[in-house]
Amino acid sequence: MSPERRRPEPRGPLAEYERRRHRARTPEPTAKPVRQLPPHAPSFVVQAHDARRFHHDFRLERDGVLVSWAVPKGVPLERGGPNHLAVQTEDHPLEYAAFAGEIPAGEYGAGTVEIFDHGTYESEKWGPREIKVTLHGARVRGTYVLIHTDGRNWLIHKMGDR
Ligand code: MN
Repeated sequence: MSPERRRPEPRGPLAEYERRRHRARTPEPTAKPVRQLPPHAPSFVVQAHDARRFHHDFRLERDGVLVSWAVPKGVPLERGGPNHLAVQTEDHPLEYAAFAGEIPAGEYGAGTVEIFDHGTYESEKWGPREIKVTLHGARVRGTYVLIHTDGRNWLIHKMGDR
């Protein structure tokens, strides 16, 4: 049995994150148990991921993890433009917001990750079918709405510049 198989099966909201990764082969952050943090402004990050197909990864801090979506056409930067598909992916650890680097060939998400933008955000609505947030980044800023369509599929739309 390999050492990786002997690791305890991860549990909790980051179990899928750990299951998808070979810990010894990827430089990505390890999932630690999710902690309760004192009240603070939640953070967001947009990572440019030059993987098999280039996309943005859009992540919002929520309940001690980064709720995450892959956005094939990128997070919209212009108000009132077309909706972009956002496919929800597994929750990521908060430490992932600072991750940039190279995921080796053959591993999940193989390719280069760069931080496109990050900052704090305010949540106006967080429901199962609709999420509305105001992002305070340098490049990604303003009011965005995410609408759940089906399965893991959402649409992301920029509503306002504020
Ligand atoms: Mn990605």
